[in-house]
Amino acid sequence: MIIEKQRVFRFAPSPNGYLHLGHAYSVLLNFDLARQCGGRLLLRIEDIDTGRARPEFEAAIYEDLGWLGIEWERPARRQSDHFDDYAHALERLDAMGLLYACDCRRSDIARATEGTPDWPRDPDSSPLYPGTCRAKPRRAAREALAAGGVALRLDMDEASARAGQGLKWREFGALRPSIRAGVADEAIRSSREGRGLVPADPARWGDVVLARKDTPASYHIAVVVDDALQGVTDVVRGRDLFEATSLHRLLQRLLDLPAPDYRHHDLILDEKGQKLAKSMAPTALRALRADGWTPADVRRRIGL
Ligand code: GLU
Repeated sequence: MIIEKQRVFRFAPSPNGYLHLGHAYSVLLNFDLARQCGGRLLLRIEDIDTGRARPEFEAAIYEDLGWLGIEWERPARRQSDHFDDYAHALERLDAMGLLYACDCRRSDIARATEGTPDWPRDPDSSPLYPGTCRAKPRRAAREALAAGGVALRLDMDEASARAGQGLKWREFGALRPSIRAGVADEAIRSSREGRGLVPADPARWGDVVLARKDTPASYHIAVVVDDALQGVTDVVRGRDLFEATSLHRLLQRLLDLPAPDYRHHDLILDEKGQKLAKSMAPTALRALRADGWTPADVRRRIGL
């Protein structure tokens, strides 16, 4: 008899606004998929950005998920309780010589790149870091940050060389060519229902920031550490994070962490075809609830 490993899903909202229909889609998809395979559903509160996270938004997350009928394992993991785990991962990368302290401010980067037409941009449209601090003498990352550094960056060339060739992930989303020309086509062709192996391309992010003086761990480092620590087997999240997965696969390989399967789902759009934002009050679940919507109305609106 073959015993299949129990699958572990997670929903990982940031408590910096109220959940809206897009979050409802993501969490209901995770919940339904976990149920279908007898898997577990975890909730993770991604509050590392302590300047933006607010307790009332966290309380609203529990309330809104309860109203939707979601059942998750308690307690939720709150990232701000685990900065030591992320610091440990950063120390490992530092011991490999892959981190350097950077004291450039956003305005320095803008000044260094503005003059060059077509300066390359990362998948979030920010100019790639020009490497100003890369060649400066390096010292232990934590020490350098304490001594006036603004951020810790990953030396992408070194990191990619260390990770080696053939970094990929298993994608279960129905990819469309619009996500990344060429790659999505290949993933679709390679299997049924759009499942396939997607080649990771972390270099598109350049020397990303993995920690800041005021926020000691970036989303990228926290998410890969937590997914591994929590035994997550299936990352089901919005397409807006598709490109970030390249970086996550790189960090997983460098830190010897297992690679979950990924499913990047469609985003729920408003009438004008725009992505929903936390600042758009009318689609907030609590606003809809106050208007008399039921959880079944929510499922109908998002097509689940
Ligand atoms: N915390 C992220 C967000 O709210 C989601 C991260 C993830 O699912 O990997 O957008």
